[in-house]
Amino acid sequence: MRAVPKSLRLTNQARLVEQLLRRGVATRAELAKAGGMSQPTAGKIIDELSSAGVVEELSGSNEVARGRPSVGRPGKQLRLSQSPPRLVIAELGVERTRLSAVPAALPDDERWDVEFRTPGSEATWRQRLRQHAAALSIRRPWGVMVSVPGLVDESTGKILLCPNLHWCERADLPAAFHEVFRAPVRLIQESRALALAEVGTRVSAGDFLLVDFGDGVGGSIVVGQRPYEGNVPATGEIGHTPIAGNDRQCGCGNRGCLETLIAEPWLVRNYAELTGEQEVTFADVCRAALGPELPQFLSEALDATASCIAAILNVCGLKRVVLSGIIRDLGPRAADHLIASIRRAAMWSRFDTVEVELVQRRRARGLTIAGIQRVIMPTDWAAS
Ligand SMILES: [Zn+2]
Repeated sequence: MRAVPKSLRLTNQARLVEQLLRRGVATRAELAKAGGMSQPTAGKIIDELSSAGVVEELSGSNEVARGRPSVGRPGKQLRLSQSPPRLVIAELGVERTRLSAVPAALPDDERWDVEFRTPGSEATWRQRLRQHAAALSIRRPWGVMVSVPGLVDESTGKILLCPNLHWCERADLPAAFHEVFRAPVRLIQESRALALAEVGTRVSAGDFLLVDFGDGVGGSIVVGQRPYEGNVPATGEIGHTPIAGNDRQCGCGNRGCLETLIAEPWLVRNYAELTGEQEVTFADVCRAALGPELPQFLSEALDATASCIAAILNVCGLKRVVLSGIIRDLGPRAADHLIASIRRAAMWSRFDTVEVELVQRRRARGLTIAGIQRVIMPTDWAAS
């Protein structure tokens, strides 16, 4: 018989794991205090998490004590387990599909176990998935976390719109992954996974907006260490904000979207139009962005981006922005222009500094955090 109701135990488990996500390492006593529970209660839960292979102890010599049912004295440091693999994480990208088997511990680098070119049809993609999945060293994953580049209803696992990979709108991706791995499958919008990767880092000390620039432009707001979820599965679509004076046809079906000014393929097209050259690459755009003055199409695109970002900051009461993706490749002049333009437009700048930071994309880390929050410890602790 359980002394504590199961739901409360799960909530407490999730609280302790969440603390480890934020802190990296912590003692039992620190976890108990931060989780708002007594040391005996926390101790019991930590023993359970240890037996399940979610949490492990760092010994004095930094070696991990494995296979012990109890994780020792209150002063011992604990962390998320670095083995065995528990989750499969996957990126369904427009160009590449990547897969890894990961433990509960967060990966330090963006390393993938296997990857293949994303084919142009569902049937071929499923075939490649089956072939490559066999190379992963995981027997029975607890869950599969998949990042997808489009508008996704995460509750049903249905992709509603994917302008750059249309076949996956008709595909049953959860079924395809389930057929291979026989585990629960969760889809997550790519920019949400990227935003989650900042949990436990300096920028996640408060709420923030992440904007990622690539083949498209996506955003995600993280509130209380969780991606904000709206009432409809169309959140963070900053790239599809129409910009006055722009009448380009966007892949979403609308005209004039921000994406058609600042996403990578459109920057290349803009530069080709400007120079009249046929064989333009993104590297040419980056070189032009390093010159003494930014090309006008680029500075205008950055200003339009800044307006969209500032509107979100002003409405949501945020003062921190994290930028990732190709904005880093465009060089310091473009980044400085965008940051200055955001600060000019954001209301909070009148009172304090609006923090803008450029970060590397860390999809693997974000997907692992999403897996911990949605598969390993799925209790909605934030609501409790
Ligand atoms: Zn659009």
